Amino acid sequence: MNNNAELNDLNIVIVGHVDHGKSTVIGRLLADTDSLPQGKLEQIKEMCRRNSKPFEYAFLLDALKDERSQGITIDTARSFFKTDKRKYIIIDAPGHIEFLKNMITGASRAEAALLVIDANEGIKENSRRHGYMLSMLGISQIAVIVNKMDLVNYDEKIYNDIVSEYSEFLHKINVKPMIFIPVSAMQGDNIAIKSKNMPWANTMTVLEALDNFSDVKQPDDLPFRMSVQDVYKFTASGDDRRIIAGTADSGILRMGDEIIFYPSGKKTSVKTIESLKNFISAGYASGFTVTEQIYIKRGELCVKYDAVKSDEKIKPLVSTMFKASLFWLGKEPMTLGKIYSLKIGTAKTDVKLNKIIKVINASSLDEAQNNKNNMINRHEVAECILETERPIAFDTADVMAYTSRFVIVDKYEISGGGIITENAGGEYPEMRENSAILIVPSAKLTQDDIERIEEIVSREFGNDVTIYRKNNFKNF
Ligand code: GDP
Repeated sequence: MNNNAELNDLNIVIVGHVDHGKSTVIGRLLADTDSLPQGKLEQIKEMCRRNSKPFEYAFLLDALKDERSQGITIDTARSFFKTDKRKYIIIDAPGHIEFLKNMITGASRAEAALLVIDANEGIKENSRRHGYMLSMLGISQIAVIVNKMDLVNYDEKIYNDIVSEYSEFLHKINVKPMIFIPVSAMQGDNIAIKSKNMPWANTMTVLEALDNFSDVKQPDDLPFRMSVQDVYKFTASGDDRRIIAGTADSGILRMGDEIIFYPSGKKTSVKTIESLKNFISAGYASGFTVTEQIYIKRGELCVKYDAVKSDEKIKPLVSTMFKASLFWLGKEPMTLGKIYSLKIGTAKTDVKLNKIIKVINASSLDEAQNNKNNMINRHEVAECILETERPIAFDTADVMAYTSRFVIVDKYEISGGGIITENAGGEYPEMRENSAILIVPSAKLTQDDIERIEEIVSREFGNDVTIYRKNNFKNF
């Protein structure tokens, strides 16, 4: 057995229609890999006996969740187990909203997925929608688990029909699952032990399939990205340090690194790292101070200057207009022109749907008819143009997945989420180092006014000022 310290982690999300067996699969995986607290399994079995209730692996998970939610860590949605090859973190996604929220806000970020389908009930709309979300979020390592094979007498034909129907769906959305596995999570067939009940299935077990997934590129190896959460000032006399705090999405930041913030374009260097380690890496709340006295706000995206200078491709984009793939889950449809909030990283701004290019139903994949392209209904996916009130910094999904993901909030509720695929705001000026941007509503100001503002701002900030005149934005 390998030493723990040498094992890589892999974050797996488990999705599927309600009651198709997600909790049972997780419970089984924990039990069969000896990952449960000592005596837990017997304790729950005994409890079931006393209450004359049949034992369910899902109870095991509920009991663990209850315990954890009463403890210090409120980590109710994650389970941990390991094999000789890896340490696994399983993220339970009880519903669409939780799944999108966790994936987008960074609470948990899956690199692979188990998608559970009930063999007896067959493919449901949510089986398809979840598949669609995985494809949108770029999670390409997927194992499809056809569960409850015991309920269909381990019938090969029923299994094969589900495989072909679901493969056809996945093919349409460009997803190629790594494997389909017939299992019974309840009976333990093909979870950790190869089933004798399905001699026709020449398959890996779920555990083998997990070990067969590839390690994903560690975020440390990717370009540095950190969305500024807050700026803390010290009040003690003589201490003028300001700590810029946040949780990096990717990359490593060290003392002395030159950094640039977007959208402001302000540039400086890291003076000190204010964390337990002497560098900042992805996933940990950290802070640092900078050499210049610059004004940085929550929501700015911090990147390493050297990296973006040498490679245009990995430079974040700044715009008020972008093309997105958006999954809508709001009770009310998303409508053109209505004002919502958009959250990307720690940045938040008003946003409106500027144009719908195409709307499809995430389950049937049919193109929506008769909606005159002015709304996106619940469970529909749109290719659309979004327009924000203020410029935001982002990456496109093909360049950096995390910093391309956003959620849309309607009346304090997360109602949709998606990925930015393209910058559609060609008019927006290139950010330059030490530049300032001023957005003025040109409808309300004369050319004279604008020139006067330009003069004052230039005098205050140096010559590098761009005045951005925004037309047709009366709603904001
Ligand atoms: P979830 O909502 O997807 O987490 O589903 P659960 O894991 O809670 O399972 C829903 C119900 O299906 C429970 O009553 C389970 O005992 C049952 N179940 C799960 N897996 C199997 C299976 O392989 N065979 C049978 N017969 N029942 C199962």
